[in-house]
Amino acid sequence: MQNVLLVRYGEVFLKGANRPHFLKVLTDNIKRAVKPLGGHVWLSDSRVYVSGFSDLQATIDRVTKVFGVYSVSPAVEMEKDIDVIAAEAVKLMRGYSGTFKVQGKRSDKKFPMNSMEIAAEIGHQVLESNPNLKVDVHKPQHKLMVEIRDNAYICVEEIRAVGGMPMGTGGKAALLLSGGIDSPVAGYQLMKRGVRMCAIHFQSPPYTGELAKDKVLQLAKKLAFYSGGMRVYLVPFTKCQLEIHEKCPDELGTLITRRFMMRIAERIARDFGALALITGESLGQVASQTMEALTCTDAVVEMPVFRPLIGLDKTEIMAIAERIDTYETSILPYEDCCTVFTPRHPVTKPKLETMPKVEAKLDVEALVTEAVAGTEMVIVEG
Ligand code: ATP
Ligand code: MG
Repeated sequence: MQNVLLVRYGEVFLKGANRPHFLKVLTDNIKRAVKPLGGHVWLSDSRVYVSGFSDLQATIDRVTKVFGVYSVSPAVEMEKDIDVIAAEAVKLMRGYSGTFKVQGKRSDKKFPMNSMEIAAEIGHQVLESNPNLKVDVHKPQHKLMVEIRDNAYICVEEIRAVGGMPMGTGGKAALLLSGGIDSPVAGYQLMKRGVRMCAIHFQSPPYTGELAKDKVLQLAKKLAFYSGGMRVYLVPFTKCQLEIHEKCPDELGTLITRRFMMRIAERIARDFGALALITGESLGQVASQTMEALTCTDAVVEMPVFRPLIGLDKTEIMAIAERIDTYETSILPYEDCCTVFTPRHPVTKPKLETMPKVEAKLDVEALVTEAVAGTEMVIVEG
């Protein structure tokens, strides 16, 4: 008999022939998450289990943040003997009052009782031992789950986890990470779908300082927790911005700047082995995020650009930022390169055809190549 943490996984179920691979990745990710706390992790019969942990709450906190995990339950593992199970169920339910029901699950069909019989027998013994409990099969306050698998497991509490897909199963992408509220959330949303990513940050010294860079590295660290580390590419962007500011009409400044960011990001992304770019844009939030403006930014890259926040309101984005603990860092007041040369009256409906004309005054290729060549890479630990 031992205490274990029973881990249920969500959508990984749907993966057909790829399921063993997804489950192996999920199990490895859980192993990595609990490693600092000690504990043994194994996959058996549709569940992952963790045992031998020193601190249950800390183990729960970590495992519920592993993408692909649907929920967890502190459980007792024991031999498949109905008397032993009933005795443990009685012990487990001792502190509870109100209504309950027993939910039996027999995946080992050799076990002599079926799910209904297991539930009836255990329910009966629990009721007899605890006068503060009543049965309610429709809307119980507590659900005592009894699972007969390779061993028997019982548990009551079920704690929801992040869900999503195991990290690493969704391919590789590059996140354009500013110091703002939106882009860390955009990164998180796609990490949740199993996407491994690097971050690309554009900095314009001396207009942006060391503190702005530190802030971005702090944000990257919050994200790196989910992937066990992350590469951050720091792109020197001052020259591009100055040239754009000097040679292009003010009202198109932000848009041309964004086109440069995309071009540079695509090259770095290829080098990293990424197949897509990710930004924190949300439709209509600012002038450069109208449909016309996004068409102009997308036109300079071949890679798909994922914008997981496109349909979210700022308040919804802020709520996620709070939940994933990036908000407080994002609102630190350091300059981002985008705010350095903000035009007073940016166009909201730019025409794609005018872009090449405007950019003809710049040596696009040379500027992009120089920025990529000057890029510095930092590894942020998870
Ligand atoms: P955020 O809160 O993420 O800064 P935002 O609403 O301020 O977003 P913009 O400044 O227009 O929007 O930037 C849109 C997107 O472009 C950002 O979400 C981010 O993906 C990318 N971006 C902007 N500035 C930078 C930067 N300095 N480095 C890397 N990416 C950037
Ligand atoms: Mg910004």
